[in-house]
Formats: sequence, C-alpha cells, structure tokens
Amino acid sequence: MHRKVVIIGSGPAGLTAALYAARANLEPLIVRGLQPGGLITTTNEVENYPGFIESIGGYDLANTMEQQAIKFGAETLDAIITHADLSERPFTLTTDGGATVLADTVIIATGASPRKLNVPGEDALANRGVSYCATCDGFFFRGKRGVVVGGGDSALEEGLFLTRFVTELVIVHRRDSLRASAIMQERALTNPKIRFEWDSVVEEIVGEEKVTGIRVRNLKTDATKLIETDGVFPFIGHVPNSQLFAGQLATDESGYLITDHRRRTGVPGVFAAGDVVDHIYRQAVTAAGEGCQAAMEATWFLAEQEFLAKQAESVAA
Ligand code: NAP
Repeated sequence: MHRKVVIIGSGPAGLTAALYAARANLEPLIVRGLQPGGLITTTNEVENYPGFIESIGGYDLANTMEQQAIKFGAETLDAIITHADLSERPFTLTTDGGATVLADTVIIATGASPRKLNVPGEDALANRGVSYCATCDGFFFRGKRGVVVGGGDSALEEGLFLTRFVTELVIVHRRDSLRASAIMQERALTNPKIRFEWDSVVEEIVGEEKVTGIRVRNLKTDATKLIETDGVFPFIGHVPNSQLFAGQLATDESGYLITDHRRRTGVPGVFAAGDVVDHIYRQAVTAAGEGCQAAMEATWFLAEQEFLAKQAESVAA
C-alpha cells in the first residue's frame, strides 16, 4: 500500500487532517489506532465545540468527522502502527498485522493517553473498579460509591457525569484549590453528591477481586486513611503517544513532539498535530485546527516535491 498522505490517529486532529487532505484530492489513509475517534469519544457531552448549540456526544462528534472525511475520499484502516521508519521517503509504516504502508507524507495525530497514578493495586484492579473513562463505565457504578482523582476539567466533568449513577462521590485532589474552569468548579462544588478530599494523594488502591477502597495520605498532616469505594477514576492528565517515533523526532522533556508553527517536525514530509504536540490547550477545536494546518502543509509539501521532480526530469531530458 502506497499513499500520498497517511494519517496516524483518528481523533479530531487526524480526522480534520483527513478531511482537508481528502478535499485536496489526496485520498488520505487514516490509520485509526487503538482508540478509534480518539480520547474525545470518552467524553459524554462536548459543550464547547463550535457549531453545536446543544451539546454533542464525544463519540457522535468523532463519528461525524470521520464520515465527513470519508465522504470526500478518505479511507480508514483499522490497525495500529507498531513501527515507523522515517529515515527516507517514502516513509515505511508497519501495522500490528504485519502489513507495510508506504507514505509520501505522514501526519502524526496519535494523541495522548490517560496518566496513571502508578500506585499498588492500580494495574491489578484495572477494569475491576479502576477505570479511566466515566462515560464508558459509569453505568456499572449505579447505586455504588465512587472516587475521582484530580482537580482539572476532566476530573470534574467526569465526576459530575458519575453523580448520575453513584450514591456518593469523593474527589481526591493533591492541593486545596482546583485547576478546572470556573463553570466546572461551580457545578462540582455545589453538587450535593460530591465531597472533596483536599491536599491528598492516593497511595494504594485496595481490594482483592474488585476495588473496595483507597488509601490516601494528606500532604499537609501526613495522616493516612482508608476511603471505602467501589470505583476509582483517575483523571490526572495525559501522556503523549510519541514513543513510536523515539530517536527519530524531537520531543520536549515530557515526550510531546516538537513542531514549528507550521506543524512541521524535523523530518521533511512528517507533520504532527493535536494532543501528541499540544500540552497547553488540548481541546477538540484546537486539535482540529492543527489537523487542518498539517494537512495543508502536507498538500503544499507534495506539490513542491512534484514540481522539483518535474524540474529535475526536464533538466535531465
Ligand atoms: P489537567 O488540566 O492537566 O489536570 C490534571 C489534574 O490532575 C490537575 O488537577 C493535577 O493537579 C492533577 N495531577 C496531575 N498529576 C497528578 C498526580 N501524579 N497525582 C495526583 N494528581 C495529579 O488535565 P485534564 O483535566 O485532563 O485537562 C486537560 C486539558 O483538557 C485542559 O486544558 C482542560 O481544560 C481540557 N479539558 C476541557 C474540558 C472542557 O472544557 N469541557 C473537559 C476536559 C478537559 P494540580 O492541579 O495540582 O496540577
């Protein structure tokens, strides 16, 4: 398989890149990756994507974007890229199924994954009470107790969603003030089902077959205590999915890919957009904007390469 444009990742950045590349007649291939539609699909209600007066579900938003790109000629591949050789053009991408995809340009839109607490019990009890997606798993906690960890917009938004199901929700935050936007803070602080455990960190997730509690330590008093719960939802930020390009593309100290303001990485023909680059805004709308930029740059890059090839041909003739 040889394509002019291969987009790795299918969140708002990748899908918008696909839309623009498709409308430039480049028939882009979207490699959908581990989480088709990206992280936005785990958001229940998106209230801040322009164009929707009523909120839209994250899954519906991603699905609509994908259908729009497909309508103009984008193609999808349900695969994960396990190896990328960016040393020469066309670039060589290998899928988890062992297929090889050659790409004249690559747009990296691999996003970011939820950051783990890295405490005892977290991995052992994953999917047995530990979840990183309230939208996906909230229903299973109907009539039960829940804990959310974090003080950002994700923690409060997902926590508020969980209050539809749980009898009580404790939000554990390591400081005594929240990072989340004012509107989210107001909603969470006034919700009767929510109680905050301030200045505290989770030291252990407790349970045998399933989660029964968490052990927390108060950072001001150093006191520890057990909070009984049936579910733990950590929302403490994200880690960029850039490992695939280690040693080939520059990253910052947190692993975010570095691009210039035109979404170009250090390798000509390789562009990056969305959460794998952006550790500041991380919004669906900014990711979409960056995806658009990356696709326009890829289009111009290909046109330039074509022009140079023709020029070389005519010199040789
Ligand atoms: P975030 O804003 O980076 O917040 C992460 C939270 O986790 C912070 O409160 C942080 O504490 C805490 N934290 C980080 N590492 C921790 C650790 N090891 N142990 C305990 N706590 C830890 O991440 P986010 O909430 O996922 O949001 C990411 C971006 O998406 C933000 O720009 C946000 O505004 C945006 N977002 C927007 C919406 C919306 O507008 N509807 C919804 C979701 C997300 P500190 O505060 O002490 O650093």
